[in-house]
Amino acid sequence: MARMQKLHAKVANQRKDFLHKTAFRLANTCSVLCVEDRNIRNLVKNRKLSKSIHDTGCGMSRQFLVYKCEHNAGQLVKMKPHFTTQDCSNCGKRVKKSLSVRTHVCPGCGLVLDRDYNAALNIEKAGLIQIGFIPAI
Ligand SMILES: [Zn+2]
Repeated sequence: MARMQKLHAKVANQRKDFLHKTAFRLANTCSVLCVEDRNIRNLVKNRKLSKSIHDTGCGMSRQFLVYKCEHNAGQLVKMKPHFTTQDCSNCGKRVKKSLSVRTHVCPGCGLVLDRDYNAALNIEKAGLIQIGFIPAI
């Protein structure tokens, strides 16, 4: 039992170390970081998602990003997470898909992208519009 606890502690420390280093690298290389303003507590209530959310340390990584951005005078932009995974980052067409569909395939413009990468492009664009860096169309 003590051996299992040690292993769990080791994995938790490795995860924390990875999140620290990633937040540090992002805050050092980007002057603006755009993230979805999600309520992590509500997401954790979803049984299908809660383990993944805990495993990736979503809440912890958000705290690290806030701290590192403040420390490096960077800007952390939180944008409303409306249809970031559904909307096409190229043409804006809404492409409905369930959580299990991991690839974005747009019937409008033909764009094929990893679901998360498509969402990241939408988050970046919405964040930059929010701070007035690019105009809203
Ligand atoms: Zn499209």
